[in-house]
Amino acid sequence: MSGSLLIDNIGELVTNSPGNGPLGIRRDAAVLAEEGRVVWVGPSAYAPAADRRIDAGGAAVLPGFVDSHAHLVFAGDRAAEFAARMAGQPYTGGGIRTTVGATRAATDEELRATVRRLHGEALRQGTTTIEIKSGYGLTVADEARSLRIAAETSTETTFLGAHVVPAEYADRPDDYVGLVCGPMLAAAAPYAKWIDVFCERGAFDVDHARAILACGQAAGLGVRLHANQLGPGPGVQLGVELGAASVDHCTYLSDADVDALASTTVDWMCGSSTTTVATLLPGAEFSTRSPYPDARRLLDAGVTVALATDCNPGSSYTSSMPFCVALAVREMRMTPAEAVWAATAGGARALRRDDIGVLTPGARADLVVLDAPSHLHLAYRPGVPLIRQVIRNGVPQ
Ligand SMILES: [Zn+2]
Repeated sequence: MSGSLLIDNIGELVTNSPGNGPLGIRRDAAVLAEEGRVVWVGPSAYAPAADRRIDAGGAAVLPGFVDSHAHLVFAGDRAAEFAARMAGQPYTGGGIRTTVGATRAATDEELRATVRRLHGEALRQGTTTIEIKSGYGLTVADEARSLRIAAETSTETTFLGAHVVPAEYADRPDDYVGLVCGPMLAAAAPYAKWIDVFCERGAFDVDHARAILACGQAAGLGVRLHANQLGPGPGVQLGVELGAASVDHCTYLSDADVDALASTTVDWMCGSSTTTVATLLPGAEFSTRSPYPDARRLLDAGVTVALATDCNPGSSYTSSMPFCVALAVREMRMTPAEAVWAATAGGARALRRDDIGVLTPGARADLVVLDAPSHLHLAYRPGVPLIRQVIRNGVPQ
């Protein structure tokens, strides 16, 4: 893109840069973007001229949300399963196979249309970076095409061939792990940045998860995993052991799990490459009517926490980061500032990115103008469409 864009008359600017509290808040501020990057942040009264200007009218502006955990490549929905669950049936994860069947039967164009629809939804709700996983194909060809389609929309793509063991391998999971580590990984890796495993009872045990993640690392992919969602288990500590960028869910944690995560948090001014972020996905607990993770315990221990949607048709069919912020504040004892940080800078750290989730010179010009005077309103006014304008790569959407 060409030209410069000035957003001025910002009543409350969340920068997430150190100082002025956890959110690095500046009052009466302005942001100048050029060539998709933030090039200047300062007092609105001293803002330089620009080719285009957006008057925020005293509203709050924050970095675009970074949704670091979403499953957007699928077909069909599971509304009936949701209704049954709300009528009392427990969530087991078994419904994933329903979506696998529908996804395999779908055309590329049908899958692409779903990704675009959900990406558009997320963007309108302020998400400017979204991670997209495969995991509903579970054949070599279907995982590769899922990632090829995901890569059309995001650079943050994740190979999740180890989502569940598909029905045709139900009695020989070792063979399926061999397929994932061999031809499936080879076909998926050109389109993927990350590898992920659903390490949970009923999905993949710790030995299978370790083997799959090690193969992915050897192929040059970064590690993240689903762990400790449905019960206690070894997944979180496996993630720390392997230097995962993020362990996601973290609903059932032992003290040793919390200590292991806290031990990875380093001073961000000195580097970020070894921190394992705890990514919490409260949409899943909401949609499965399950106990929420204890964010307060993690934060008090010094763990770096991110919030993400887990958008998927089974256990969390929301694309709304503002909804997750509201849940985190109301149900997980995060302060509004902690939740907004976790949904922006925290998500960036879960993706090991330092160019997003912040509004400082050099960062990508991804920002959100709220229809509200403060970030507090995201949790204070749940369910209200407070995203007035989204700017991505310096371009108003
Ligand atoms: Zn997930």
